Amino acid sequence: MTMETSGTAQEAVTRPCGYSRCDRRISYSGSGRPPRYCQPERRWPDQGGKTCKQLAAEERAAGRAAELEAVTAAYAATEDPVLAAIQALTAVLADRHAAGEAVLEAVGGRVAEAERAAAEAQAARQAAEDGRASADRAAAAARRDAELAAEARRVAERRARDAEADARDQTSQAWARVVEAERAAAAAGERAEGAQRAEAHALADRDTARDRAAELAENNKELRAETKQLRAETADATAAAARALTELAAAQARADAAEQRAATAGEAAAADRARAEAERAERLAADAAAAADRAARQDAEQRAATAETAAAAAQARADAAEQRAETADAAAAADRARAERAEQRAETERAERLAADAQRPPETT
Ligand SMILES: [Zn+2]
Repeated sequence: MTMETSGTAQEAVTRPCGYSRCDRRISYSGSGRPPRYCQPERRWPDQGGKTCKQLAAEERAAGRAAELEAVTAAYAATEDPVLAAIQALTAVLADRHAAGEAVLEAVGGRVAEAERAAAEAQAARQAAEDGRASADRAAAAARRDAELAAEARRVAERRARDAEADARDQTSQAWARVVEAERAAAAAGERAEGAQRAEAHALADRDTARDRAAELAENNKELRAETKQLRAETADATAAAARALTELAAAQARADAAEQRAATAGEAAAADRARAEAERAERLAADAAAAADRAARQDAEQRAATAETAAAAAQARADAAEQRAETADAAAAADRARAERAEQRAETERAERLAADAQRPPETT
């Protein structure tokens, strides 16, 4: 039993060389990697001195080459059916491609046609809108033209009416001017006759005015003399007024004395008379003063009237040949001067009387 076990273990550590033609066995020492080929190496002189390992490698390479050939041959054997199938598929796909192209072409044509139709519809719509806007504008322009024409017609009618009225007015005015011209012509004729008559009158009036001017110059001399006399009289009246004032003061003193006496003697009646006397003296003094003022004023007025009369006379002499009316005015001025002079004489006489009254001594009791 032990021997068998030993013999089995001896066999277990040997193995054949890996090269198929080598008949040797390889022993394994039990350590390291187990060898696969003869150890030490066996060389084969008929095989070019190659080792078992090299020859085994060539053997495996040859086997692999033979296997590749077989596989390649099998692949080549399946090539024809595949090519046939590809050719058939290619033909079918070409037909399919042509059909697809036709479909694309048809669809493209339809799309382009639809786009063209849409563009045409858009253009037609735009044209319709443009046409409508243009029609609106044309209608508005027509309305405006109609309004302008109506306004122009109204203006023309108004102008025609105005022109007709103007023509009527001008005709009336022309007739009125004709009538007025005829009337003016008649009046001018009458004025010419009047002027001839007036010239004759003026010649006569010139002589009259000369005589009148000479008369006025004479009157003026008289007025100057009278004015001189009035001045002297006014001076007298003024002196009389001054005397009256002096007398008034004296009368006032006498009245005061009488009043004092009356108070002293208790004679009421004497006091009353004295007061009445004093009041009368005051009145007389006031009258005398007023008379003196009037006399002075009248003297100034007299001088002015004298100068006015002299101027009127000079003017009358200068204008005697032309204006009869101015001569009449000068005569009227001379008449007024005479009337004023008479009035002034009366005033002077009144002033003299008042002054004389004032000069009389007051009555005393
Ligand atoms: Zn070997």
